[in-house]
Amino acid sequence: MNTTILGYPRIGAHRELKAATEDYWAGRTDAAALARTGADLRAAVWTRLRDAGLDAVPSNTFSFYDHMLDTSVLVDAIPDRYRHLTGLDRYFAMARGVQDVPPLEMTKWFDTNYHYIVPEVGPGTRFRLAEGAAAKPLAEYREAKARGVDTRPVLVGPLTYLLLAKPAVDGFRPLDLLDGLVDVYAEVLERLAGSGAEWVQLDEPALVADRSAEEIDALARAYARLGRLTSRPRLMVSTYFGTVGAGALRVLAGGRVEAIGLDFVAGPGNLDVLASVGGLPRKTLVAGVVDGRNVWRTDLRHAKATCASLLGLVDRLVVGTSCSLMHVPIDLDAETTLAPDVRNRLAFARQKVDEVVALGRALREDVPAEATVPSGGVDQAVRERLGAIGEVRRGDRAARFAAQKDALGLPDLATTTIGSFPQTPEIRRARADRRAGRITGDAYTKAMKDEIAHVIALQEDLGLDVLVHGEPERNDMVQYFAEQLDGYAATEHGWVQSYGSRYVRPPILHSDVARPRPMTVEWATYAQSLTDRPVKGMLTGPVTMLAWSFVRDDQPLADTARQVALALRDEIADLEAAGIRVIQVDEPALRELLPLRDAGRAAYLDWAVGAFRLATSGVRDATQIHTHMCYSEFGEIIGAIGALDADVTSVEAARSHMELVADLRAAGYENGIGPGVYDIHSPRVPAAEEMEDNLRRALRAVEPARLWVNPDCGLKTRAYPETEASLRNLVAAARRVRAEL
Ligand code: GLN
Ligand code: ZN
Repeated sequence: MNTTILGYPRIGAHRELKAATEDYWAGRTDAAALARTGADLRAAVWTRLRDAGLDAVPSNTFSFYDHMLDTSVLVDAIPDRYRHLTGLDRYFAMARGVQDVPPLEMTKWFDTNYHYIVPEVGPGTRFRLAEGAAAKPLAEYREAKARGVDTRPVLVGPLTYLLLAKPAVDGFRPLDLLDGLVDVYAEVLERLAGSGAEWVQLDEPALVADRSAEEIDALARAYARLGRLTSRPRLMVSTYFGTVGAGALRVLAGGRVEAIGLDFVAGPGNLDVLASVGGLPRKTLVAGVVDGRNVWRTDLRHAKATCASLLGLVDRLVVGTSCSLMHVPIDLDAETTLAPDVRNRLAFARQKVDEVVALGRALREDVPAEATVPSGGVDQAVRERLGAIGEVRRGDRAARFAAQKDALGLPDLATTTIGSFPQTPEIRRARADRRAGRITGDAYTKAMKDEIAHVIALQEDLGLDVLVHGEPERNDMVQYFAEQLDGYAATEHGWVQSYGSRYVRPPILHSDVARPRPMTVEWATYAQSLTDRPVKGMLTGPVTMLAWSFVRDDQPLADTARQVALALRDEIADLEAAGIRVIQVDEPALRELLPLRDAGRAAYLDWAVGAFRLATSGVRDATQIHTHMCYSEFGEIIGAIGALDADVTSVEAARSHMELVADLRAAGYENGIGPGVYDIHSPRVPAAEEMEDNLRRALRAVEPARLWVNPDCGLKTRAYPETEASLRNLVAAARRVRAEL
C-alpha cells in the first residue's frame, strides 16, 4: 500500500443515513429498508475510494449510529438491561433508550465534536464474539469483497476501547478486562484472515494522551498476544489527534505489528518521538499528513517534504490522512455559494482523498507537488487595534458588586434563565420561510418581535428578576454570530456527524474576524423597551465560537480567539450604551478545547481566559457580566472559572446536588454562582420543594446575595407547558428560601 485514508464519512452525500434511520425510528420504514440504505452507502464509499486511486480502502467505517457502540455489540458488551431486546431494536435502545430503559451514556470522542456511546463494563461482563451482522467487520469485509473491493477493516483498538469504557459499578477497573477482550479480537483477526483480509487497522487514539506505566504494559500485552497469532492479517495500529507517547511508540515499534499510523497534523511532535525510538527500520509508517479534522487544502509541497524527512526513519512509507475523514464535510463540489478566494483554500473529504493520491504519486515518481495554499484575509484595522490593547481587567470586585447592587436592585437569590425559550414550530417555520424568501424581512422581524414580547410578558408574569429575550431569532448559538461576522463563511451542505442522526454544519472561520455592524442590539433593546426589569444581553464567547467552527490553521488559535473577542467587546459596548445592564457571554465549550495532554493545558487556559476577559472587560463596574457553562464537572478548568472574572457564573449542578458550588468556592471563585436548580434535559416538571432543597444546600457554600436561581441550561429544546410550570416552581422555591433568610 502506498496511499490510504483512516476512514470516510458515513452519512451519505445527501444525508441519506439520517433520513433512513429517522424513518426507521418513526416506524415509516422497516429494518430491511434501513439495511438497504446502509449497504448502498457503503458500496458508494468503497467504489469511490477505489476509483479515486487509493491503494488501500478502509471498511467497517460505516455505522448506523456510532463505531464505539458497534464495537460493544461486536464483543457482546451488552448491559443486562438491554438483553431482553434483540437486533436493531437493542442497538438503538443502547444508543437512544426506550420507554423505561435509559440509553448508555454519550460523550465526546477525544477533542472532537463527535460523540460516542460509552461502553459500560463491569464484573459481570463476559466478552464474546457476536455472530452474523453484529460481527460487523467480518460482514463488511465480505460485503466489500463481493463488490470487488478488497478492504482493510478498521476496528477500535482493545486498549482505547477499555480506556473509554465506564465501570458499571464503582471501583471497577475496565482495563482489568483486557485479556478477555483481546481473546475476542484474536478471534476476529483469525476469521478476517480466513476470509482473505490482508490488513486490519486497529485505532488506538488513546495513545496520544498521557498514559500510565500500567497502561503501557497493557498495550504491550495486548499486541504481543495479537501479534503472535499464526493466522492473522497484517496489523496497522493507528494513533491520531496528537503526538503519540514515547513509551507507547516504543512498545509498538518493538512489537509484532507491521504498520503504525502517526498524525503529523495534530501531532507535530511525532517526528521527534519517532526519531527518539530509533525509527521503524522494519515497519511501515502510515504518515497522516492530510488533515482529517479541518477543511483546508493541504500544502502538498510541505506535506511532501514531511514525508521525505520520514523516509530515512522507516522501512516503508504510506501517505495517509491524520485521522478519519468523518470529521469534515463530504464534498466541496456540492457548494455553490462560497466566495472563490475562500473556496480556493478548501478541501473536503473527497478532495482530501485526491490529495492523498496526488501526494503518493508525487513521492513515487518524484515529481514536484503543487505549491502552497494562500492564507486567510488580513484586516489591518483589526490587527492594529488588537496590537494597541494592553492589559485588560475589570475594576475591583467589591466595587463592582456594590455598583451592580445599586444599579440593578436585585433581591438575594435573584432568579433568571440561561437565555433561550422554547423554539416552537412557528418560530422555526418563520426562520425557514425567511431563508426561502417566502416572507419579507419585515414580516420576519415582526414575527420575532411578537415572540419576544410574549416571552417578556411570560417572564414578568412568572416573577423572574432578570429577563431574557428568548433567542427566537437564533438557529444556533455559533452559526447565528458567524453569519454576521466578517471572516466567517457558511456552507450549504457541509454536514458533519455530531452523534447518531444529529449532524451539524460548522461555519468556516477563514480570515481575520471583524464585526461590520451590531449583531444583537436591536433584539435586546426591543426586549428591554417592554419591561422595567433588567433584560440580559446574550452572546456566545470566543472559545465556543472557535470550538464549534472550522478554524484557520495559518495563525495560532489564540490570535483568532482575540479577534473574535474584540468583535464581542464592541458588541458588548454597544449593548451597554443602548441601556442593557446585564450581559451574558456563554462559554459551554471552554472545557472541550482543553488539550489532551497536561503539558499544553496551562497555555490554553491562559489564552482562553484572556480572550474572555478581552471581550468582557470594557464595561462599567455597574454592568453585570454573566457566563454560562453546561457541565458540572470542571476538573482541570475549575481554577480558570475564577480567572474569567464574570460577575455571575451559571453551571449545571442539578444532577450532582449542588456540589459544584462548594467546589468552585474551594477553587477560589468568589463571584456570583447560579447552580442550575433543575435539569432541563427532560420534560419532567420539578417540584418547588426539590429546588428549595437544592438552594438550601447551595447556601451552605455561598452567601445569599451571590446565589442565583436558574435552570441548568437554555430552554430551547423544551415545550412551553413544562417550561412554564417548571419556572413557576422555580420562582416559588426562590421566594420561600428567601423568606427563611
Ligand atoms: N444562551 C444559550 C441558550 O440558552 C446557552 C446554550 C448553551 O449553553 N449551550 O440556549
Ligand atoms: Zn448550557
